[in-house]
Amino acid sequence: MSDIIKLLPDHVANQIAAGEVVQRPASVVKELLENAIDAGATSIKLMVKDAGKTLIQVIDNGKGMSMTDARMAFERHATSKITTAEDLFNLNTKGFRGEALASIAAVAHVEVKTKRDSDSLGTLLKIEGSKVTSQEPTVTAKGTMISVRNLFFNIPARRKFLKSDQVELRNITDEFHRVAMAHPSIQFSFDHNDNSLFQLPTSTLRQRVVNIMGPKSNEKLVPVEEETELINISGFVGKPEFARKSRGLQFFFVNDRFIKHSYFHHAVVSAFEGLLKDKAIPSYFLFLTVPADSVDINIHPTKTEVKFDDEHSLYAIIRASVKHALGQFSVQGIDFNLE
Ligand code: ADP
Ligand code: MG
Repeated sequence: MSDIIKLLPDHVANQIAAGEVVQRPASVVKELLENAIDAGATSIKLMVKDAGKTLIQVIDNGKGMSMTDARMAFERHATSKITTAEDLFNLNTKGFRGEALASIAAVAHVEVKTKRDSDSLGTLLKIEGSKVTSQEPTVTAKGTMISVRNLFFNIPARRKFLKSDQVELRNITDEFHRVAMAHPSIQFSFDHNDNSLFQLPTSTLRQRVVNIMGPKSNEKLVPVEEETELINISGFVGKPEFARKSRGLQFFFVNDRFIKHSYFHHAVVSAFEGLLKDKAIPSYFLFLTVPADSVDINIHPTKTEVKFDDEHSLYAIIRASVKHALGQFSVQGIDFNLE
């Protein structure tokens, strides 16, 4: 009997990886926005057609890629961001797995136009289902434009299970909010079907939150600031009356990366103890800064679940700092009422 185990061809391996990384149009948006940030862009434009089912395009003014790097970027496990396993414990970039572009290109029609500042000509590369169909020199500005068309064109089951445009657009908007909120110093825009949904100028964190959440949110934000040896916390919690029954305005960022954390969520909710009506859930926009080697981001491909050293201590610090902020707020509130 002959042996029966074979290595999968790259395009098949990429399609399997894509199942984890690219679940819906919003996943593509997240990966492309994060790449633009890692490229040092100061201005990032997101353009979407039909909730991402027809087109997702991100244009940045970051450092761009050479002709060869533009091709390499689509290889699996190809990254400029880490070189050794030790680097995994000290990450300063959003990306490091080197699989987003390879995964996206496995399940869509992708076009990249990119140029470095030092090059006189840029490069235009087209890839369909992991196969490069053309690459040619092109005249373009410094930075990178990536267009992703016909997502899941070769996986009909996935395409069929995409939700309505309204739901997919909601998911894209959530990703956009998370990235834009974490980077108020970067200018962002977001257009859907040629309508401008967001134009976010460079601003302070408070202004960015207000630009995203709407002008009414300004008076509802209570600042939270705490510096300890284990963690620095900054950001805002919404005043108790701003709390709603539905979830949705809860944001934790760790070292400028959006994460979900039910244990820390509990820490914030419990700090509101006695202030909330009918199980309402408070809003918060909290930036946690910890040493890069005290958090493991590499426990899930989408990197929204992370693991901290000493979560119990962090819980206590988060809870205390929110309580402290709310306490100050209510004292100020009373002073204000007496005036
Ligand atoms: P990762 O971000 O984990 O490195 P990706 O597949 O997302 O993996 O990207 C692969 C590589 O392509 C990156 O490491 C980077 O060198 C390059 N790249 C991707 N997007 C951009 C961009 N917008 N500008 C410049 N370089 C980029
Ligand atoms: Mg990436």
